[in-house]
Amino acid sequence: MSEDFTRVDGRKPDQLRPYRIRAGILRNADGSAEIKLGKNWIVVGVYGPKEHFPKFEALQDRAILFCRYHMAPYSTTERKSPKPSRREIELSKVIRSALEQAVILERFPEMSIDVYIEVLQAEGSTRVASITAASVALAEAGIPMKDMVVGCSAGKVNGKIVLDIGEEEDKEGEADLPIAIMPNLKKVVLLQMDGKLTHEEFKEAFEMALKGALELYEEQKRALKDLIEKMKTIEGESNE
Ligand code: ADP
Repeated sequence: MSEDFTRVDGRKPDQLRPYRIRAGILRNADGSAEIKLGKNWIVVGVYGPKEHFPKFEALQDRAILFCRYHMAPYSTTERKSPKPSRREIELSKVIRSALEQAVILERFPEMSIDVYIEVLQAEGSTRVASITAASVALAEAGIPMKDMVVGCSAGKVNGKIVLDIGEEEDKEGEADLPIAIMPNLKKVVLLQMDGKLTHEEFKEAFEMALKGALELYEEQKRALKDLIEKMKTIEGESNE
């Protein structure tokens, strides 16, 4: 890595954007979370498990996990149509298939669990940031999971492998590699690639994204611990 290499936002090649996750932010959802990652700002609300309607669509042996990834019209530099785009439909499916591998759906036959993802502000790598926040919201809703799910991206920009691709880098870059993992089970639940990487570059980008995901996993745990502490304080105060 050359010394004079600088990224568009001044980050080091292996540096995440500033991040913050908060759990339990919505009063009326069963579970919720917010992630800020750079200028990305994503809110997730989880409902369920609840009886699935219409009943004839319910699965007898497990719950249905429904995911909706939605970008607010004001989330991008140019107004985005509020109508669900093909990209949003595809990302909803991709996110569901990542989360589905962790959620123990067999525990809730004939029920459904809904995950609503609202991208309030987008700045690249929103699919992986959405997965990271959704996993915290599912945990807050008390949905049993085999492990948390945490996502991160890496890619190639100006010939260098870099972590956590921002919007500018996504546009200018040669490759984008979003991944999501179950950190304790050491299982990859999402792996996509846009662009081209050599075998060696792929290995480097994958290792980098993995390290980024593990850093964000610590933040997921911190957010959930914070919420538990907050609830204990409220409980203590109401018992006084
Ligand atoms: P991801 O957000 O997972 O990286 P993409 O690679 O499709 O998914 O999008 C990269 C970025 O491009 C988004 O995070 C967002 O900042 C921007 N973007 C996506 N869709 C639009 C849109 N319709 N209008 C303007 N910008 C968009």
